[in-house]
Amino acid sequence: MGTNRRVLVVEDEPVINGAVTDRLAAAGYDVVRAFDGPGAVEQFRTSEPDVVVLDVMLPGLDGHEVCRRIQAVRPVPVLMLTAADDETDVLVGLAVGADDYLTKPFRMRELVARVAALLRRVERAAELTETGTTDLGDRRLDPVARRVWAGDDEVHLTPTEFDLLLCLAASPGVVLTRERLLREVWDWPGASGTRTVDSHVKALRAKIGAERVRTVHGVGYALETGR
Ligand code: CA
Repeated sequence: MGTNRRVLVVEDEPVINGAVTDRLAAAGYDVVRAFDGPGAVEQFRTSEPDVVVLDVMLPGLDGHEVCRRIQAVRPVPVLMLTAADDETDVLVGLAVGADDYLTKPFRMRELVARVAALLRRVERAAELTETGTTDLGDRRLDPVARRVWAGDDEVHLTPTEFDLLLCLAASPGVVLTRERLLREVWDWPGASGTRTVDSHVKALRAKIGAERVRTVHGVGYALETGR
């Protein structure tokens, strides 16, 4: 799979950093690396990667703080690496702008697939912009600039929250199953994935108004435009 996309790999353990870097390079990515928190923020600014693979446990700044800082510079898809299947770690990661996570130990093939899926989502969201869905009642959505406004105030969404909103907004009032949202927004139908959808819907609701996203219990979600 040829690609000129650039990946920033942040991991302080040299063996894992090297293995991830080699595997992504073999898949055709341009890979840049960092080994601690401050180095990751600096490398993000100078090398402008398209996607970031980010370990949570890092010297200097932890992965959550790194994620918060780089998302403030520029929205970017982030795949978080967590040391254990720790739900708190995952929820904190999603809250600071991570889009997906992998629990150590992980298979390299799985990591490469997740990175590719993150990049495809960004591209698909760009295609969705051509549907021109910008009217959400009293919210305005600018698909090209990837920004959302409530009156004169900007609503700050993570890249995943924006893609989720864009997907829902493409079919306002229509109930989209969690499986469909996983496929269209995350591009992977993982068995554990519906919890990921629920977490991001919860975060999106907190930002755009709980009444905007209707829950259809046991099925999925629908966007209410207030019209
Ligand atoms: Ca580490």
